[in-house]
Amino acid sequence: MRLDLTQKYDLRLPRYTSYPTAPHFSPAVGAETYAAWLAAMAPDTPLSLYLHIAYCAEMCWFCGCHTKITQRYAPVADYLDALLKEIALVAERLPSRMKARHVHFGGGSPTILSPEDFLKTMDFLRARFVIAPGAEVAVELDPRTADQAYVAAMAKGGVTRASIGVQDFNPKVQQAINRIQPYEVSKRVIDWLRKAGIAGINMDLVYGLPFQTAESVVETIEQAVGLGPQRIALFGYAHVPWMKKHQRLIPEETLPDVPERWRQYEWASRRLVELGYVAVGLDHFAKPDDELALALKEGRLHRNFQGYTTDSAGSLLGFGASGIGALDQGYVGNEGGIDAYKRIVREGKLATTRGIAITDADRLRRAIIERLMCDLAVDLDRVCAAHKADAGQFAPALASLAPLAGDGVVTIEGRRIRVTDDGRPLVRAVCAAFDQYLKAGEQRHSKAV
Ligand code: SF4
Repeated sequence: MRLDLTQKYDLRLPRYTSYPTAPHFSPAVGAETYAAWLAAMAPDTPLSLYLHIAYCAEMCWFCGCHTKITQRYAPVADYLDALLKEIALVAERLPSRMKARHVHFGGGSPTILSPEDFLKTMDFLRARFVIAPGAEVAVELDPRTADQAYVAAMAKGGVTRASIGVQDFNPKVQQAINRIQPYEVSKRVIDWLRKAGIAGINMDLVYGLPFQTAESVVETIEQAVGLGPQRIALFGYAHVPWMKKHQRLIPEETLPDVPERWRQYEWASRRLVELGYVAVGLDHFAKPDDELALALKEGRLHRNFQGYTTDSAGSLLGFGASGIGALDQGYVGNEGGIDAYKRIVREGKLATTRGIAITDADRLRRAIIERLMCDLAVDLDRVCAAHKADAGQFAPALASLAPLAGDGVVTIEGRRIRVTDDGRPLVRAVCAAFDQYLKAGEQRHSKAV
């Protein structure tokens, strides 16, 4: 991609893990609405469950997640107690003991749970949901806190996939982000996982971090590939110190500028493809025989709050402080403050404090944005036909893409839009043309590249 384009489109745009995006949720949707939506769910709706473990042992300075630091286990145990209460409160509002096809433990650090508590949580879920045979059970894993006993508990609990947080193997970068994690520590946990029979291994890497260069990012890529993960996610560091105060600990002068971020992304992406991975959407890479790469090939890739997924479940139930759910009627978000969250669920109430009801027009635009984010292409006629909508309404959006087409970011044939290889890092700018909620001047998200 041309350098001038990365500068021209240095917009701060949403990552489009939902549409409408989370900043548009409001208190108009609360616990009562969520309870009504849960009760109205068709009993055979396949579910996806997300459990947010909102604690970590130490703060990584680049972190953009919703988490709290603790050195003691008591707050974690107390939080888990509330989380299980919330699961029970939600489950009793559902029309039946429903089937879950995906379970995802995210955070924070799910590996901060004791092995016993992890197994207790899985048993608790199994008592309230039918975990479908062949369901994907995924855990975000911090190699610094996961020990062999935890990995054994994961295997016993039926975990099929682990997402390993690495970010960068370079010691200077690790020091600058306050995340010291030697290569051997990551390797060791991967060996344990494989020995325990957990074959699905993802690795999360980040570019745009302090002191990184395109050369150093490629070195990390090569080390990562040497460990043989099926999938690699390559995220751009989002420096938003006005939202995440601890990011102020990263001096801005140590951060790569936009052209350098672009070089890092491009060099890393190219190297991953050379090493046999298939580029999936904006920021994922998968081995050609991996389910994510196959889903991409077959046009059944999806995007949800965890990123790219093969999960086509009808509804996502989110548990924990700041947990987000997606139901047919709309999105719901939980109270983010841990103390307030615990208090609400201990009063026997659902912790929903915000959300948004979605309209058919939102569903249509969501489908268009999802195809763009997943396939890097969309046929508006096809999506509109599936939604029984008039594709002519998108004439202004198509017209607004003319500058991107002129710059070689997209090609437009009739109402078919295709993001070019060069334009891939700018796909969010293409999606933005279909985002009715995005107003000029409100783009306080992370950089598009
Ligand atoms: S372990 Fe993950 S969630 Fe916790 S502080 Fe580090 S990056 Fe954030």
